[in-house]
Amino acid sequence: MKSKTSLAAMPRTRLAHLPTPLDDAPRLSALLGGPRILIKRDDMTGLALGGNKTRKLEFLIGDALSQGADTVFTAGAPQSNHCRQTAAACCKAGLRCILVLTTGQHDELQGNLLLDRILKAEIVHTKSDDTNAVMAELATAERAKGRKPYVIPIGGSNGVGTLGYASLILELASQLFERGQTVDRAYAASGSGGTQGGMLLGARLYDLPWRLIGVSTGRRSAEVAGYVVHAANEAAHVLGSTESFSGQDVEVDDRFTGPAYGISTPESREAIRLFAETEGVILDPVYTAKAAAAMIHDIRTKAIGRDETVMFVHTGGTPAIFAYHVEMAESLG
Ligand SMILES: *Cc1c(COP(=O)(O)O)cnc(C)c1O
Repeated sequence: MKSKTSLAAMPRTRLAHLPTPLDDAPRLSALLGGPRILIKRDDMTGLALGGNKTRKLEFLIGDALSQGADTVFTAGAPQSNHCRQTAAACCKAGLRCILVLTTGQHDELQGNLLLDRILKAEIVHTKSDDTNAVMAELATAERAKGRKPYVIPIGGSNGVGTLGYASLILELASQLFERGQTVDRAYAASGSGGTQGGMLLGARLYDLPWRLIGVSTGRRSAEVAGYVVHAANEAAHVLGSTESFSGQDVEVDDRFTGPAYGISTPESREAIRLFAETEGVILDPVYTAKAAAAMIHDIRTKAIGRDETVMFVHTGGTPAIFAYHVEMAESLG
């Protein structure tokens, strides 16, 4: 390890079932005529149907509790996996949860939004794009009532939350070491940047020499890369590490983003079917299916060599598929 830093010194609340499995995907690999494919099953973190935000929330909720908070705010789209996992984490930690939901695709009472309600989160709707400002204002009002609010930004991708994905690298390194394998490339969906940023920091700290490709799920590459750099630098700062990152350290692919966040594409719907048919693995239409579409394309076009080992990070999102039943039904023929 390069610098003297300690994850163990950070407040942490155990929420996830770890380690998540690292599975081989031989039938998917055979179908694509491609390289060895590993799937890191972070859809199986276990908290209220799982997903990547649970790793971040271990550090965020740990931090909230260490500050004596009694109320947690966070924000997202109606089908936000982050909001659903935050609501569940708050239930488990005995904290009140207030979700600021923006307008967006699929605001019917289905998928994640249904789970938010079952998890008894209080929901505030906003038309503003500046959810940080909305939450700051609401938090001020709660403070005036004697409450102790803790505000988590969209996606939980601040320095504290991003530590969750720096720590994934340790888990992964030990799984790979046990199997005598290495990973040449990894693909993960990238939105608010903390997942990719955390892995970037962890891979730097532990000298993991892979190529990490974040697949954008809504914005152009340069914008997402900016989020990733910011998240990685913030997390390094929180850890007391001297590592620093710039845009040159980050690879973001936006070729499979489609028209907008939350809108599925023919390629993403095909990816959902291929993962399901070959491996029995269910992807989600908003994030993982777009990341998988990028990986599938790179295998088919031989941008990935047959002798490489490629890892797909399944970041979760599965509950959202039920909100997308109309789009999915059309692609099933
Ligand atoms: C939030 C989310 C992502 C993106 O993670 P970021 O850390 O926001 O970049 C990817 N996949 C799923 C299923 C998510 O819910």
